[in-house]
Amino acid sequence: MADFIGAVDQGTTSTRFMIFDHGGNEVARHQLEHEQILPRSGWVEHDPVEIWERTNSVMQNALRYGGLSASDLAAIGITNQRETAVVWDPRNGRPYYNAIVWQDTRTDAIAANLERTGRGDIIRRKAGLPPATYFSGGKIQWILENVEGVREAAEAGHAIFGNTDAWVLWNLTGGPDGGIHATDVTNASRTMLMDLETLDWDDELLSFFGIPRSMLPTINPSSDATAYGSTRTSRPLRGAVPIGGVLGDQQAATVGQVCFAPGEAKNTYGTGNFLVLNTGTELVRSENGLLSTVAYKFGDEPVVYALEGSIAVTGSAVQWLRDQLRIIKSAPESEELARTVEDNGGTYFVPAFSGLFAPYWRSDARGAVVGLSRYNSGGHLARATLEAICYQSRDVVEAMEQDSGVHLDVLKVDGGVTSNDLCMQIQADVLGVPVSRPVVAETTALGAAYAAGLAVGFWRDTDELRTQWHESKRWQPEWTEEQRRQGYADWKRAVERTLDWVRVP
Ligand code: ADP
Repeated sequence: MADFIGAVDQGTTSTRFMIFDHGGNEVARHQLEHEQILPRSGWVEHDPVEIWERTNSVMQNALRYGGLSASDLAAIGITNQRETAVVWDPRNGRPYYNAIVWQDTRTDAIAANLERTGRGDIIRRKAGLPPATYFSGGKIQWILENVEGVREAAEAGHAIFGNTDAWVLWNLTGGPDGGIHATDVTNASRTMLMDLETLDWDDELLSFFGIPRSMLPTINPSSDATAYGSTRTSRPLRGAVPIGGVLGDQQAATVGQVCFAPGEAKNTYGTGNFLVLNTGTELVRSENGLLSTVAYKFGDEPVVYALEGSIAVTGSAVQWLRDQLRIIKSAPESEELARTVEDNGGTYFVPAFSGLFAPYWRSDARGAVVGLSRYNSGGHLARATLEAICYQSRDVVEAMEQDSGVHLDVLKVDGGVTSNDLCMQIQADVLGVPVSRPVVAETTALGAAYAAGLAVGFWRDTDELRTQWHESKRWQPEWTEEQRRQGYADWKRAVERTLDWVRVP
């Protein structure tokens, strides 16, 4: 068998291809950003053609940097930004519209209407999700209703939907020339269209959005030796490599962090934050604002479920300090600036830029900085931003403990923000539990590689993968109990101030 596994990570801001060896060590990578298209307030789009071009480039370049060719890869896995919706013409591969990104809030009226008509509870029960702009269903409905000719095309079988995993898979496996139109259970669980128990598209849910079933990809296990086909011998790899796995990015990070037992959890700090708790083969329904979702399904083994707390704005609040307020020049500078002050100076920043996701689910919220006095500086704002990342995570941890009864002994973390030492120290302080980061920080790509490698027998089982996880750094809580209690109470008061701010149509 070939010596390496590849992983395509089609993320929100960039696409990367990473190559791993048998020990789970990185051998080569290449990464390219794509444009964030912001046509109006609240709208966020990507160009699917640009994403496919970037995917081609990063795959070719990573192979070249590693001095490898397609025959060195035993399999590849695909992981992706979830929920982001692409609708395209399978006859020629042309998208009918830009991809509508998970952060986009244009479907707020669709979501509000579902709630008003009592359909929200049916979606919660069947799909495990609250009706929200976040998920794919409303985005597909919006394209069907607002882009000329798409509804007719869909009825005729000339318009198909996918999240970016399915878009990349279809193109890799031949595109208009026999490309495979498929997705995995984790991506499907983020659409509001799949029944979490049957793991199939649900006709009643489809009817809420007016989506023809024929538009939708086949739902496969996350790790499967044959269902996803192989790359074509044309570009980008110039060879046939089996595609052994597909996983949504947060589920991939859960696998990359080897959270294979019920009660194990990880928190990823990127554009947003996503805490995922493995709940085993039992579907746990949240009563505290978390999502019930699929963690993974490996081949014929039973599906494994998870509870997830999704936070829309964390690392992107740091980007906002850099790009809009311009008080820092780079994301790591947020740490330097925050270290110019001892504490938050009484200020709290709630970055509810696109409403609040878990555990609040309030699309009527907007951002606020509270507690300001003349004394406060940019340092306090930087510190309040890092604290906001950590307090939002505490909100989700509290909800998770209430739903599952699981008390975290340690929080496993990954993602871009975890290179911020101060932020991770604050996280341990705010939670009162140690925070632990693994050696391989690219857990998302690693998880996709694991899913693909398991499918083709490159790795034997999850026990073997467990032995590859090693801690690189641990932060211990330092705050007193009283500091922790007071800080969290003030944070909750700050969140209250942001609610009921905008009117949803
Ligand atoms: P994604 O996969 O969502 O694109 P990444 O895991 O690549 O995200 O992380 C990128 C995010 O991390 C950006 O929002 C950036 O602002 C933030 N970030 C990166 N480095 C730091 C840092 N040292 N301190 C604070 N935030 C950081």
